[in-house]
Amino acid sequence: MIKGQVAVITGAGGVLCSGFAIKLAELGARVALLDLNVDAAQQVADRIKSLGGDARAYAANVLDKSSLERVCADVTRDLGVCNILINGAGGNHPMGTTSGEVYSTADVDDPDMRSFFDLEADAIDKVFKLNFTGAMLTTQAFARDMARQGGGVVLNVSSMNAFRPLTKIPAYSAAKAAVSNFTQWLAVHFAPAGIRVNALAPGFFATNQNKSLLFDEKGELTARSNKILAHTPMGRFGTPDDLYGALEFLTDDQKSAFVTGIVLPVDGGFSAYSGV
Ligand code: NAD
Repeated sequence: MIKGQVAVITGAGGVLCSGFAIKLAELGARVALLDLNVDAAQQVADRIKSLGGDARAYAANVLDKSSLERVCADVTRDLGVCNILINGAGGNHPMGTTSGEVYSTADVDDPDMRSFFDLEADAIDKVFKLNFTGAMLTTQAFARDMARQGGGVVLNVSSMNAFRPLTKIPAYSAAKAAVSNFTQWLAVHFAPAGIRVNALAPGFFATNQNKSLLFDEKGELTARSNKILAHTPMGRFGTPDDLYGALEFLTDDQKSAFVTGIVLPVDGGFSAYSGV
């Protein structure tokens, strides 16, 4: 049962996780919305409150353990000990992205193209830290009390890239593979503490993060998005509400009591399709 549970969501000012916050509040959770962009989180909290739900926004940086520990103390004081933690903050970095899909000598020699050899260590580090280290540090901050209390739920947000790396985004793909791997590791580690750990692996959703990859300046599908749709048996992009059934299933102890260590694709069949 989600009613009365305290749910903590990072990246809660963003497209997908703001929807998760609204959904969990609708199901009766008391929701803590954590984001680097506290104004965005506050707007979502205000919306939840206007719909009759219980929500508070907190400024938090998932890369700063002491800030997370402070926020954990604030959330516990305001709402109670966290029962459900969603590690949603994540994303890519343009300097960790190649211009072309596959190797070409012309790209390597062209100063206007970013080839594999031009990817910057700093950008690669940033992507790893945000997606992987951020989930680990946030779990360190919130799962200690969860374990002492006798259990809870951690839900990570992985990606299709973890199963099948997409061209152009090697750092993001590898970082999400690390999130999936960590999900399994943590599920094993926390089983004696009664904490279940799973992940969602969204396929292709038309959101802020990937808008420039999916649509051109005129709002039309890019060649890349046409390719994605051709490889999605259900023939469309996801919408955030496509994730809510899986979210409710994995965060509700009555619905998924014996489910831990899984990475659940929500992808319209993308990961099942060989392309032939
Ligand atoms: P988004 O960019 O809309 O939201 C991300 C949020 O994280 C933003 O509000 C941002 O301020 C916040 N954030 C960034 N750095 C932070 C930090 N250091 N500390 C705290 N908060 C920080 O992203 P989204 O599209 O809603 O994606 C949410 C999650 O889902 C991400 O982990 C993303 O990688 C994953 N995902 C998204 C898609 C998609 O199609 N949108 C697909 C697969 C996986």
